[in-house]
Amino acid sequence: TILTINSPTAELQALDAAHHIHPFTHASGLKEKGARIITRAEGCWLQDSEGNRILDAMAGLWCVNVGYGRDELAGVAARQMRDLPFYNTFFQTSHVPAINLAARLAELAPGDLNHVFFANSGSEANDTNLRMVRTYWAEKGEPQRDQIIARWNGYHGSSVGSGSLGGMKGIHAQGGMPIPGIHHIDQPYWYLEGGDMTPEEFGLARARLLEEKILELGQDKVAAFIAEPIQGAGGVIVPPSTYWPEIQRIVDKYGILLIADEVICGFGRTGEWFGSQTMDIRPDIMTVAKGLSSGYQPIGASIVSDAVEAVIGGVEFNHGYTYSGHPVACAVALENLRLLDEEGIVARARDHVAPYLKERFESLTDHPLVGEATIVGLMGSIALTPDKASRAQFAGEAGQAGYICRERCFANNLIMRHVNDRMIISPPLVISHEEIDTLIARAWKSLDEAH
Ligand code: PLP
Repeated sequence: TILTINSPTAELQALDAAHHIHPFTHASGLKEKGARIITRAEGCWLQDSEGNRILDAMAGLWCVNVGYGRDELAGVAARQMRDLPFYNTFFQTSHVPAINLAARLAELAPGDLNHVFFANSGSEANDTNLRMVRTYWAEKGEPQRDQIIARWNGYHGSSVGSGSLGGMKGIHAQGGMPIPGIHHIDQPYWYLEGGDMTPEEFGLARARLLEEKILELGQDKVAAFIAEPIQGAGGVIVPPSTYWPEIQRIVDKYGILLIADEVICGFGRTGEWFGSQTMDIRPDIMTVAKGLSSGYQPIGASIVSDAVEAVIGGVEFNHGYTYSGHPVACAVALENLRLLDEEGIVARARDHVAPYLKERFESLTDHPLVGEATIVGLMGSIALTPDKASRAQFAGEAGQAGYICRERCFANNLIMRHVNDRMIISPPLVISHEEIDTLIARAWKSLDEAH
């Protein structure tokens, strides 16, 4: 049987439950309930098989920056499929979409980040980084510099390499992770872990853990430090203002490479084109994906500095994916970047959307369940708490309150995510003020129902 978007929901759910293994999902729980079947989308709105209209405050998975339903992207994909649906860039060949996209990314990326290695996802791009930084130091005559420092509760992907860079204990628990040579330091999560320190003191203290780790491992042993400018999947953890300047000072002092994982922060999400600009840091390598194509095609990339390329360009880098620089994905990403730029979507998000969203989102702290709201640009989260003054956690199973709240949002046709007891938003950059009002009203109602 081939079902369609007009097939009965029960049939779609039954076939889904029978054959489809969902990522990051408790299978039996989902089979009991049945998956919600998403059939169409337009702007910031999804439609399900029952005809409900759902406000997507997560832009898919932090992806759909230009919003759903952009015909231009469909047109470009169809044209590219007819002209050249596939060719690889391994063996002395290239093609126009990859050439144009690499050049455009070099133009957009800050500083001297001028060279692009393509992957199909953020995970693959971070696996690339892992190998690239070790190749870099080996070629520079320092092969012993192969240790990489990352952070607990950071997220860099779900392959074995990128899952090892990430600091998600649930992923490591599957075994064999982290792979050797990767070390984690604590995150700058003041609200939960700051104790009696001011955010500024805590930011400095957490940044200095990097220096301690470098000295513990040996300063000539460390290849790179990787971090998200703002942790996304960890719960939208905005670091205190003192954190990044101190990190930049430390990586500069010890001459280790800084990898900014911009998979979520990139392409307007934090207000600027890149989170590195918002946080004022100077990475040697940036990981991008998601907003690069607004999710219309799977594509990721590592964007590297002139200095890094000058070294790895001198050897054969034994790494690549069949679909590195896939022509259709590159063509769609290039068109997406054109829309973000020429329609002023990034600039409008920063100047028109973000200030209003901040004001409205922060009003959720008036709700008795909400301990804090943090938001930068168009990524934000609220912390649920039984006691605002002490920033306490709910007793019982961790994340249960967040889960309940997320379910209430879902029932109220609003997509928010929960990470433990933080509730997250990351809407399309094109969200209107009126849609923001709807988002906040539905979030408030869901909080009331969860209370
Ligand atoms: N890096 C960051 C910061 C992410 O948020 C994600 C995904 O959420 C990834 C990497 C992994 O990207 P992908 O799921 O495309 O492999």
